[in-house]
Amino acid sequence: MSGMGRSLRDKQSGLLLDEPLIFERSRSGQMGVDVAMDADGGEDLLPEELRRGAIDGMPEVSEPEVVRHFLRLSQWNLSAATTFYPLGSCTMKYNPIANEAAARIPGFANLHPMTPDDMAQGALELMFELQAMLAEVSGMDAVSLQPAAGAQGELTGMKMIRAYHRDRGDTRRTVLIPASAHGTNPASAALCGYEVQQLEGNSLGVVEAAAVRRAIGPHVAALMITNPNTLGIFEREIAQVAEVVHGAGGLVYLDGANFNALMGVAKPGHMGADVLQFNLHKTFSTPHGGGGPGAGPVGVREVLADYLPNPRIVRDGDRWRWRDAAPKSIGRVRSFHGNFGMFVRAYTYIKALGGDGLMRATRMAVLNANYLRARLQETYHLAVKGLCMHECVLTDRHLEPTGIKTLDVAKRLLDHGFYAPTIYFPLVVAGALMIEPTESESLETLDQFVAAMEAIAREARENPDAIHAAPTLTPVGRLDEARAARNPVLRWRAAAPAADDPAGDGD
Ligand SMILES: *Cc1c(COP(=O)(O)O)cnc(C)c1O
Repeated sequence: MSGMGRSLRDKQSGLLLDEPLIFERSRSGQMGVDVAMDADGGEDLLPEELRRGAIDGMPEVSEPEVVRHFLRLSQWNLSAATTFYPLGSCTMKYNPIANEAAARIPGFANLHPMTPDDMAQGALELMFELQAMLAEVSGMDAVSLQPAAGAQGELTGMKMIRAYHRDRGDTRRTVLIPASAHGTNPASAALCGYEVQQLEGNSLGVVEAAAVRRAIGPHVAALMITNPNTLGIFEREIAQVAEVVHGAGGLVYLDGANFNALMGVAKPGHMGADVLQFNLHKTFSTPHGGGGPGAGPVGVREVLADYLPNPRIVRDGDRWRWRDAAPKSIGRVRSFHGNFGMFVRAYTYIKALGGDGLMRATRMAVLNANYLRARLQETYHLAVKGLCMHECVLTDRHLEPTGIKTLDVAKRLLDHGFYAPTIYFPLVVAGALMIEPTESESLETLDQFVAAMEAIAREARENPDAIHAAPTLTPVGRLDEARAARNPVLRWRAAAPAADDPAGDGD
């Protein structure tokens, strides 16, 4: 890594300007737009009744000031387009420009959701094909694109499972969920009225068929399992686990958020999954994390196909149409057809890579994660020994004598120009740092990240106070996170804080 001899501050560019709020820059008489209010000798272009007088508190700034202010603000946000972003479980891979070009094709970008089928054939064909491609890559029999994100896909899946059991007059009340699961899993099950029974993993974080056998019974509606799990470990016993669940009349929900470790290599349909959600905004490179809405299509095996959300796209000769094709459907879960712009992006991504490309992406993602694991497992403590899949989980245990904790490491990484990994998740690992590099990163970037992580571990021993003070090179320093979450100050007010407002949220 270059520049180890220079201090962090030397490496900061001059472009990250702290600046007053736009309200504070206001100067009376400045104009942000140049509409001719007094064109052609006094005739106003806007009729009197449509004109508003003074707007209280409206900042008065010039057009270039407005543009620069908002463009600079937009750059205060880190993204996969600006920075290595190893946020575990979130798969912050690069969002290819080709996806954006396709999503901006006017016929797609300007299509009204209520356009008659006959005038939207291209869009319907794209959605129909995307469903087929997702079914193929996952080994499932049918797909609906409707859910808006992963968590809504989970809810959709659990509603289908509930409808399936109800149809059989079955009143099963329990869903088994491993302790390492993402918090949305128990939430989705609970929203469907299920009781959650927790399953413990073994010392490798893996769910054993024997543990499922002990927990299973006629009260169990389903098992929700993430594969690879949130420790980045492949659930080796998944096929036996599914057999145990099916043998007792239950169904298997597979949380597909970690599909970036499987695509092109292994199919959940072959592992015994009856239903899963895809996170197009993780695996299939559509922007997320403030960069755009998600999309959480669901895929099902034949047993659940009747319960998929309506309407469905059906092929009718050489035409495609929307139909309420499934009488047992759980109904709609999302207005219109889902987040169509994301479908165009995911479709473009899959077409651009092809089957071999998807497999290569998965292999590179797994290789990158294992490279970081191998390089960092001495300096930091590795939560689970051995090979990982697309992400690895480290902890702050080796730093214990220095008093530096996971949160401090994450904050210091910002000063090194990296977004922080996911921290304190999964909950089954104390002080977790969950690192998911994705396939997008070059060896040089991974080496720079390793160098930064090593520098922080060194600094923890030599100068821990510097880390406690981090971040120091960002527009704002260490925030009181509890207070920021509980008392967010989202509105600017000109007035001085009132005497009964000691929190001072007037600024
Ligand atoms: C991200 C994620 C989810 C939820 O997906 P959203 O699109 O954020 O709602 C569920 N499970 C796992 C394991 C995840 O990583």
